[in-house]
Amino acid sequence: MGQTAEKFEFQAEVNQVLDLVIHSLYSNKEIFLRELISNASDACDKLRFEAIKNDQLSSDDLHITVDFDKEAGTVTIRDNGIGMTKDEVIANIGTIANSGTRKYLESIAKKDRGDANLIGQFGVGFYASFIVADEVELRTRKAGEPADAAISWKSDGKNAYTLESIEKEEQGTEIILHLREEESEFLENYRLRNLIKKYSEHVAFPIKMLEIVFPEKDDDGNELPPKQPEYEVVNDATALWKKAPTDIKDEDYQAFYKQFSHDYSDAWTWTHNHIEGNQSYSNLLYIPAKSPFNMFQNPDERDGLKLYVKRVFIMDAAKELMPNYLRFVKGIVDSDDLPLNVSREILQDNPLLRKIRSGLVKRILSVLKKKTSTAEYTNFWSEFGEILKEGLVEDFSNRDAILKLVRFASTENDDDKQNVSLEDYVSRMKSDQEKVYYITGESWEAVKNSPHLELFKKKGIEVLLMYDRIDEWVMNQVFEFGDKKFQSVAKGALEFGDDTEKTPETTEEQKSFLEKIQEQLKEQVSEVKSSNRLVDSASCLVMDEQAMALHMQKLMEQAGQAMPGQLPSLEINMQHPLVKHIESVEDTERFGQWSELLFEQALLAEGGQLKNPAEYVHKMNRLMLDILQ
Ligand code: ADP
Ligand code: MG
Repeated sequence: MGQTAEKFEFQAEVNQVLDLVIHSLYSNKEIFLRELISNASDACDKLRFEAIKNDQLSSDDLHITVDFDKEAGTVTIRDNGIGMTKDEVIANIGTIANSGTRKYLESIAKKDRGDANLIGQFGVGFYASFIVADEVELRTRKAGEPADAAISWKSDGKNAYTLESIEKEEQGTEIILHLREEESEFLENYRLRNLIKKYSEHVAFPIKMLEIVFPEKDDDGNELPPKQPEYEVVNDATALWKKAPTDIKDEDYQAFYKQFSHDYSDAWTWTHNHIEGNQSYSNLLYIPAKSPFNMFQNPDERDGLKLYVKRVFIMDAAKELMPNYLRFVKGIVDSDDLPLNVSREILQDNPLLRKIRSGLVKRILSVLKKKTSTAEYTNFWSEFGEILKEGLVEDFSNRDAILKLVRFASTENDDDKQNVSLEDYVSRMKSDQEKVYYITGESWEAVKNSPHLELFKKKGIEVLLMYDRIDEWVMNQVFEFGDKKFQSVAKGALEFGDDTEKTPETTEEQKSFLEKIQEQLKEQVSEVKSSNRLVDSASCLVMDEQAMALHMQKLMEQAGQAMPGQLPSLEINMQHPLVKHIESVEDTERFGQWSELLFEQALLAEGGQLKNPAEYVHKMNRLMLDILQ
């Protein structure tokens, strides 16, 4: 083709990504092959899917080949999949098309665990070529387009690339890596085969390499001219999830997991089933061992669950296949009954899919239930517990099952380990105890030392300590575990089976004392009353049974969702020496300051923040000096 090459600059971010990929993944450089084969396999998947709708396209004999040329120093990965048009090449290869890399960039921009090692989690994709190559050529022809509509993309991975029209006989894409001199280890048949075995064994298309030809001798011992090597398939090339679980080794499951999930570590566990009946499907679902860094950010952008119909890849359908609170699950679902031309719109409201989804949820919950007795469950819980808890609100129909999976820290533990189940708690309840007591707050330190626990400590009643962000929101909507009601120790009135901790009757004098305090604090509290829950502290804040805890109100405010102010009531420990002192204060201004102090101390003690800390310190000092005089 006489046409000269056009030159294009990379997007600025591409340079940044290239730099990062090359430097941070150098120690893992062999993954370049996995990434390119994975793209080739995606391209075959896409073509097979398109061919269902378009008779002009043929999806026979889809396969991938890997070749090398020692003299030229090149490794070539070729597929006969969907290919790309010129515009697609520009959009996909010259820009940050890969959503994983984009997310990664965002994460380093925010310095949010922006650890270079993390890049592996995203599947760096095509750019991995430049870890081992100093020049890359991509030649591609879109399926259905004529041979002379092909395009060649070339780059040395530094700032720019060129595009040129070419002729290409076969549809699909060919990537030629000109290896750096020091990477010649990859110009070797066994080395490449081993990498394919290691990373791409379960790619569902045949991966072919030339056979290794050994010199042969004739009967007289003379060396024969070398035989022409032929292509042979070097991977398993079947859909792993369609096999019988008994035929699959653990290593195979793990290798398959790494291949499609981009996770470098082993999965924690998996469940693999073939469901027959009025709804036939196979599922292979994995629970990772570690939570990817962005798990909490964008439940809407999650991926990792692939929908197949009769072995044809249809689409990434994590949202359609799993509820938000199980967004850590990765895997494959292959339905025999859904139509092949199913669209995302159809999926969203499809009764078949709803059935599959509810079956998948039950399966995951039951896998987890079985795992609760293992030591590893604690690790699972610290990775994904906060997400799973969302299910208590999100999925009413499985609430009971999820309640058996949740774990909390407790006043029975010395540390912040969340390892107490509700069943443990109930089995330890005192004979006359009717409720499951809990406290929510901003941190373990804050709840563990909260004045609200004083009476419970004295009575030896266990309290569950909750300090994950979503706990307060969840507990506002979950009312019982079996026949036991939940009760926040910081809300409503506390009643015990016995009479011992009834609030003592207040005298007329005390009543007017409490009213005077209330008058001082009417902006901050709804009520001031004598308390039965305090032992060592002078005061504490108590919310209405239905109200949202203060730390939660603050969070909502910060998120720009100010709630109509729900004021706490202030409870006072009438036995406390400080309170007895305040009762004797006559000066109105001083009395006002003492009242504020009682409120502010209560707020501080539960981990809250003062509106004006400096003012608080001044006030403290004045009152202390008063007493000293
Ligand atoms: P990802 O695979 O995660 O999308 P990559 O960087 O690996 O990211 O690839 C970017 C895009 O380039 C792909 O989404 C695809 O559209 C296109 N692409 C890459 N390799 C091929 C190929 N062999 N055939 C067709 N398209 C390809
Ligand atoms: Mg890719």
